[in-house]
Amino acid sequence: MLTQLRHIVESMTEASSLEQALHALVRLTRSAMVVDCCSVYVAEPEQRCYRLAATDGLAATAVGKAFLPFEEGIVGLIGQREELINLADAPSHPAFKFLPDVAEEPFRSFLGAPIMHQRQVVGVLVVQQKDCRLFDEGEESFLVTLAAQLAARIAHAQAKGLLRKADWSKPLRGVAGSPGVAIAKAWVWRPRKELSAITPRKSDDRAAQLTHFEEAVGAVRRDVEALALRFRDSAGQDSATLFDIYLHLLDDPSYIRPISHRITQEGWTAISAVKLISEALMGRFSAMKDAYFRERASDIKDIAQRIIGRLAQSEPDHIHVSEPVILVAEEVTATVLAEVPRHCLAGVVSLTGSTNSHAAILARAMGVPAIMGVDFPLAEIHQHLLVVDGYSGDLFVEPSEPLLIEYRQLLHEEQALDALVHSTDGQPSETLDGVKVSLLLNAGLSADTEIALNDLADGVGLYRTEIPFMLHDSFPSEWEQTERYRAILETYRGRPVCMRTLDVGGDKQLPYFPIVEENPFLGWRGIRLTLDHPELFLVQLKAMLRASEGLDNLSIMLPMISCIGEIESARRLLDQAWREVSEEVASRGHTLHYPSLGVMIEVPSALYILPEMTPLIDFWSVGSNDLIQYLLAVDRNNARVASIYDAFHPAVIRALQLLVDSARRYGKPVSVCGELAGDPVGVLVLLAMGYRRFSMNTFNIPRIKYVLRHARLDELTPLLAEGLRVDSPHTLRGLFARYLEERGMGGFLRAGHKSR
Ligand code: PEP
Ligand code: MG
Repeated sequence: MLTQLRHIVESMTEASSLEQALHALVRLTRSAMVVDCCSVYVAEPEQRCYRLAATDGLAATAVGKAFLPFEEGIVGLIGQREELINLADAPSHPAFKFLPDVAEEPFRSFLGAPIMHQRQVVGVLVVQQKDCRLFDEGEESFLVTLAAQLAARIAHAQAKGLLRKADWSKPLRGVAGSPGVAIAKAWVWRPRKELSAITPRKSDDRAAQLTHFEEAVGAVRRDVEALALRFRDSAGQDSATLFDIYLHLLDDPSYIRPISHRITQEGWTAISAVKLISEALMGRFSAMKDAYFRERASDIKDIAQRIIGRLAQSEPDHIHVSEPVILVAEEVTATVLAEVPRHCLAGVVSLTGSTNSHAAILARAMGVPAIMGVDFPLAEIHQHLLVVDGYSGDLFVEPSEPLLIEYRQLLHEEQALDALVHSTDGQPSETLDGVKVSLLLNAGLSADTEIALNDLADGVGLYRTEIPFMLHDSFPSEWEQTERYRAILETYRGRPVCMRTLDVGGDKQLPYFPIVEENPFLGWRGIRLTLDHPELFLVQLKAMLRASEGLDNLSIMLPMISCIGEIESARRLLDQAWREVSEEVASRGHTLHYPSLGVMIEVPSALYILPEMTPLIDFWSVGSNDLIQYLLAVDRNNARVASIYDAFHPAVIRALQLLVDSARRYGKPVSVCGELAGDPVGVLVLLAMGYRRFSMNTFNIPRIKYVLRHARLDELTPLLAEGLRVDSPHTLRGLFARYLEERGMGGFLRAGHKSR
């Protein structure tokens, strides 16, 4: 049975459309189960009915035409009960409904299983037999297993199919890439020559092909340099440095040399050699576990396409638009994005990519709303009016008038909100009743797009050091790390900068140091890894210390602390690093400031060892992202369980309260550097609990400042008490959300949900 099941599932996976997949399913299931009929009914929620989507046994002419209301027939009953129904004689069941034209008369026994996706019935899978008999347990479990396999495929196709039928009344769902709302016409960009469409060919003139290739690389280098310059004006110096990755690739012998080799030694044309080498490299990157590195495949494709474009024609593939558009492409790359003048770029939609794509990173830096990874046929959308909701990832095509009015209103509110939040720039971060708070920056996550000076931040509350390690092809040297850390400490001269030691493992992998584990989030991650490699840890600590010479604004934070021993070992290594660097600094006639050392509280065990921990550390910072994940046993990256990843779960709230109360008792500074601190409701709850230091991304700082400047602690404290009395997460969130609404800050509730 298992082999047959696998065969059916594989046949469905290989099918190019849902129709084909369902057709294969019913045909193969009928034969595997040796039954007389197999059919699939797909739910149509708007019409509140099931549609016969495929059958092998009923009348083929009824496919797509036979409908059963949700409340009717045995199929309807399965949907209502959300469970399997096994009947020896279906026509005698009171719920049985005779459908004309489906030719169901010969069948008596009936076995049907609901097809469930994320708690919703998306269809019903049925087998029928002419004999009057009950199906056995083996048949039941076979059908249930198949139905479970089918669920995601149907749900996905339902979402996708909306556009195929030109039914644009529902949004297309993607990933929120950059926050904001945009309304404009779609401008679809396609490369003139697709990498995948090139058929490799050989040439007789190898020398000419090589010259041609070298000239094209030179031309692309000049194009990219020009784009980087243009980009610097609209998104800032740090974002423009992302183009360095492209330039680096064009100079990288491990990329360029194999292409030249294919041309000169094997006789491929320049275009073919670029295709062959680039695709092989892209394949290697795409297979990597880490999302950041998977995205690098897209950089290689972008550069390869540009070289090919230059090889095929002497002029680059410029984009000519003169009014604001929403740039739509199969793959919006950083260079495509930079081609569109900033004043003409209202929004971005990319069919591929995610929040880690360079395009998303750049869109955020430029403040352009973006949706990534949305699935629809590109050709149909050009010049159609679009609404991009960069908060939710919803894309509306040819929106209805009421929807358009609603989004225009939102856009208007957005603009007003933006002006409003910046009206408090330069004013102190304090509540209406005079409670002072510190708003700090979370930096370092996105290839350093966020290290530019943020005048509104009181310092850096969390500098994630992983990215410099990820951008290299081996561990970065002490000198390289020192340079990078120095740049940040200098940028924030006179303000505190809290640097976290390397937190790789989990979902953050280094390509040159792969960790293969069954359960990476519970494995060799963060401090566990660095303590096992003191040679790496010491290099990082020394680089941080050396970078801080004369600036004295460094503090160091340890990730994923779960026991006292880890702090003791880390402290010993910090002492050792400090002794070494301070001797060197002393030889220059200076003294090296000993930094304060803190821990991230993100592993639940840390909550219960605070009394023992406190004498060993100077501060702690709550990493709510991981703390919630580990307290609730909910993977922070798994969309399937996203609805139960709840920051307002009573257990989370109690943990947060314990952490701030303990900090007060032991006289230790405490901050929150997880996403919760940048959430308008979250920050008010935290404030009411007693927190005063919050660390968040650049985008959130002015917003959270505005919210805090318009709130009163003496109103929030009783609100928290009320919320805790009812002890319901929804009530607590609801109470604080209402507080914002009542003070005219409801607009922030939308804006609170964005990427880091
Ligand atoms: C956290 O876990 O809340 C945190 C800030 O760290 P990271 O998101 O980098 O794991
Ligand atoms: Mg964490």
